Amino acid sequence: MTSLAQPPLPLALIVDDDPALRALSRMSLEQEDLRVEEASSGQAAIDVAAVTMPDIIILDLQMPGMDGFVACQQIRQLPGAEFVPILIMTGLDDIDSIARAYDVGATDFIVKPCHGLILSQRVRYMLRASATLNALRSSESRLAQAQRIAQLGGWEWDLVKDRMHVSDAACRILGIAPALCDHSQASYLARVHEADRALVAEAMREAVADGTEFDLGHRLVQNDGTERIVHVLGETILDDTGRAECMVGTVQDVTDTRATEAKIYFLANYDSVTHLPNRSLFLHRVAQAMTCGAGSQIIGALLVVGLDRYHRLRDMHGSRKAEQLIKDVVERLQHTLSAGVTPVPSTGAETPVLARLSDDQFAMLYTHLSAPEDSAKVAHTLMSALGTPFVIDGTSVTLSAHIGLAIPGADGVDADGLLRNAVTALQAATTTGQNSYRYYSSAMNTSLATRIILEQDLRAAIAANQFVLHYQPQVDILSEKVIGFEALIRWQHPTRGLIAPAEFIPVAEEEDLIIQMSEWVITSVVQQQRMWHKGGLAPTAVSINLSGLHFRQHHIGSQIKALVYEQGGNPQDIELELTESVLMTDASTTIATLRELKESGFRLAIDDFGTGYSSLAYLQRFPLDTLKIDRAFVKDLKLGTADSPIIRAIIGMGRALKLHVVAEGVETRDELAFLRMQGCAAYQGYLFSKPVPANQLQHLLRDRRSEEASMAADRFRNRLAS
Ligand code: C2E
Ligand code: MG
Ligand code: MG
Repeated sequence: MTSLAQPPLPLALIVDDDPALRALSRMSLEQEDLRVEEASSGQAAIDVAAVTMPDIIILDLQMPGMDGFVACQQIRQLPGAEFVPILIMTGLDDIDSIARAYDVGATDFIVKPCHGLILSQRVRYMLRASATLNALRSSESRLAQAQRIAQLGGWEWDLVKDRMHVSDAACRILGIAPALCDHSQASYLARVHEADRALVAEAMREAVADGTEFDLGHRLVQNDGTERIVHVLGETILDDTGRAECMVGTVQDVTDTRATEAKIYFLANYDSVTHLPNRSLFLHRVAQAMTCGAGSQIIGALLVVGLDRYHRLRDMHGSRKAEQLIKDVVERLQHTLSAGVTPVPSTGAETPVLARLSDDQFAMLYTHLSAPEDSAKVAHTLMSALGTPFVIDGTSVTLSAHIGLAIPGADGVDADGLLRNAVTALQAATTTGQNSYRYYSSAMNTSLATRIILEQDLRAAIAANQFVLHYQPQVDILSEKVIGFEALIRWQHPTRGLIAPAEFIPVAEEEDLIIQMSEWVITSVVQQQRMWHKGGLAPTAVSINLSGLHFRQHHIGSQIKALVYEQGGNPQDIELELTESVLMTDASTTIATLRELKESGFRLAIDDFGTGYSSLAYLQRFPLDTLKIDRAFVKDLKLGTADSPIIRAIIGMGRALKLHVVAEGVETRDELAFLRMQGCAAYQGYLFSKPVPANQLQHLLRDRRSEEASMAADRFRNRLAS
């Protein structure tokens, strides 16, 4: 059961020293459904009101002791008494008393004796008025609160007298004390920021002239010089004749909102590290330029610069240092923007747009080149600007980069297409060696599509374990005995069959898949060695090709060593092959890495020797064990011909450096005979065996086992004989 609580009846306090009058008054008021309290003196009235504040007080003026004037004044001081209606009931009807009564806080007065009905009606009326006033006050306070929260103020402008009434809230926004508000349009405009003043005055003038509204944002300057941004809305009020008589409106401080909007705009359109435009703003600018230049009319170029291996540097040095590196890169790019190419003189110096497309990609739009060929000069300048080493952590770091170029009009008539094609050109450039640039050509899209498919398949292949290892025997040139194997990876593609490493290793290197792949090779080789060992064979040395990327990993020596130990293998049974070009890139750090690998127990070989440009000075300092002569020098060698000075020199140098010289790609007996004559130690090639799966090596391994057994028997016999 629910009961609706009735609001308590209004409480009236009758203050009079005359008990008869109090009784009469009580009677009339109670008939009107009022609760009544009585007080016979001023002090008693104060005591009652201090405990329970009545809804109305009927107060006699003439009382012994404290009179009604003093009582009225003191009651008004009580908490919550500020707006309580006080009805003075007095026999005094002289003007002075009435005036004095109002001065001390009376609300109204009535002359006694008065009829009970008149008293009760007057009290009723005063209670109603008081309730209405209270409601108004609380509504006003709510409105003021809402306006304060919304930083909104109101104003009214009398157009005839040019007087402006500005609310307290509006004064606060304008930064002036309400008392000091001078009320005219001119004084308002004086506070408007100088640069916006004419605009605001014109908007107001137009609204008045047309009798319409105005809606405007502008800056204003407060007395202390603080700048704020306000949004002003105004509406013109017309008189009966249709003439504008006043304008009413609001002013709202939107400084914080605008700052937030600006922040949002920045985050949506700019890169937060470099403060350069991001991809979306760049595309917008490109579209604008192409529209202004009527599509194909502009002579310009869109360049996309891709930094190689940025992510690896970031992993190595941490995000903060990587960000600094990016800022340094941007500084150089910006410098070349202005220094790069002279724009067409007649059009003036149009600054090219530079943007950051992603972590490691930047884009530039040149719109005012003298000739399209100038874009090549730009690419060169950029390359050489980035070519000088950067410094991270006090060490110098060489960044290589690639650039893709697309020409507006020829390579795309819209911003999206043009950028896409420049990125395609960049991807094509990355396959053509370090620090190169390529112009877009339509054929790239087809080769790119093939590459993308290959890349996707490659990722899947790693997950699905589609790789196999083939082993090629390495043979001692004099004894023709197998002294080890080189492990060579192949991809057993589900539809395309066996794919050679030349096709997928470069892709794997670019996409950072090579490290996973390389670790798989090492693990598989050690497992294979363990199986051979279990089958009763002596430790079999296997050469593993190490990619440059893997080689440059931090603590590569201990990493690979741990991997080998994990599988129960021994680093001494593994030779790591590094190509000449890998070793010679950043040769000074190479020495340290090679030493680390050597200390971890691995043998080290320089692979494809003769194809790169080795510095002999370095070669001498590299702690290498083996030198593998590239197949190109072995091909077509014949005894008795004089045209092979290079291979002679290589073998001679290898021997002088005390390296085990191995010739690669030996296919004919002639080649072998020549190599043997020149003192080459070992060879591998189709002549002896192609690379084959481990299970096809059984016969070689069996032969090795019987040889090992007979050698052991010989050793045994020799010992017996001695
Ligand atoms: P590489 O290390 O110089 O390997 C020798 C290449 O010559 C192998 O090609 C081998 O099959 C081939 N070859 C051997 N003997 C002859 C011959 O008599 N005649 C001819 N025409 N070719 C011969 P493959 O297996 O296609 O490997 C090519 C390259 O791919 C390797 O050159 C090596 O640089 C790389 N590679 C292979 N496996 C791996 C691997 O596991 N990791 C890495 N990082 N690279 C690998
Ligand atoms: Mg090799
Ligand atoms: Mg080789």
